[in-house]
Amino acid sequence: PYDMLVVGGGPAGASAAIYSARKGIRTGVVAERFGGQVSDTMAIENFISVKETEGPKLVANLEQHVLDYDVDLIKTQKAVRIEKKDFIEVELENGAVLKSKTIVLATGARWREMNVPGEQEYRNKGVAYCPHCDGPLFKGKNTAVIGGGNSGIEAAIDLAGITKHVTVLEFSDTLRADDVLVKKAESLPNVTIIKNAMTTEVLGDGQRVIGLKYTDRRTDESHLVDVAGIFVQIGLVPNSEFLRDTLELTNRGEILVNAHGETSMPGVFAAGDVTTSPYKQIIISMGSGATAALGAFDYLIRN
Ligand code: FAD
Repeated sequence: PYDMLVVGGGPAGASAAIYSARKGIRTGVVAERFGGQVSDTMAIENFISVKETEGPKLVANLEQHVLDYDVDLIKTQKAVRIEKKDFIEVELENGAVLKSKTIVLATGARWREMNVPGEQEYRNKGVAYCPHCDGPLFKGKNTAVIGGGNSGIEAAIDLAGITKHVTVLEFSDTLRADDVLVKKAESLPNVTIIKNAMTTEVLGDGQRVIGLKYTDRRTDESHLVDVAGIFVQIGLVPNSEFLRDTLELTNRGEILVNAHGETSMPGVFAAGDVTTSPYKQIIISMGSGATAALGAFDYLIRN
């Protein structure tokens, strides 16, 4: 068996694996796709001390750093179940079962997509999911935010300070964001909020986004908005479906962890975007990966 098995190979998992291996204990990593969300990212400008990099480059560096240590890296296998027996068992999709004394779950999350024509084609070419990451790319340009919940309205307030104008499109007839956020957004001269708006298409010129189409659900009329950037803020879904019956999750599916990364199952720790850790960022998930690995190591030497 392993001493520590990390499930997930994004920044949180890579960080946990390195912290574990540096303790000289038997460490494994199993990931469906090594690199995680970072593989889908182009410019990264907020990974402190690295002024500018690209997702695939950072992923290659992560892998190299992990492989500098004695780590078993299983790169393309998905975990489908965990169970506590003598050891903690992780069952993979191919039927294999891995055993470990401790587990760090770092399976990350995925942004909910609009599923409209043009969204995939213009992903990273104007269609964005992270205002903290990509907001500055649209300095002085028109942008749109899809979704009027807390993250959508926060994004609009954030982008209003950077970009020229922000149009918020909300599907229903009310905004679900906190009142104080809505008031703030409504007070900004360069924010327009449109309700009952169903986004139907992302428009581009072949290279980049040039606008979007939405339908007014009350009148059925179609409208065009000129934007260079579209921030989709309709939810971040944690990759925790396979844990639903084994661990305590929030109603949004995030794994509940304490300050040491402990979950509700002794010996099982968690880190990164799949957890209740606030603010989903690379640097934050790496920090929580380190915390979870150190928490798991503490557990190991006490049990
Ligand atoms: P993830 O990166 O999601 O990695 C999860 C890992 O778990 C993957 O290896 C996945 O394959 C694996 N996995 C999932 N389920 C299973 C399973 N059942 N079994 C085995 N393995 C599994 N953050 C920034 O700080 N700066 C940026 O500029 C930035 N830009 C972004 C741009 C985009 C387009 C996106 C989508 C995100 C961006 N982020 C950015 C956010 C950042 O990528 C995430 O916060 C970070 O990757 C989270 O790391 P993680 O390790 O928790 O999860």
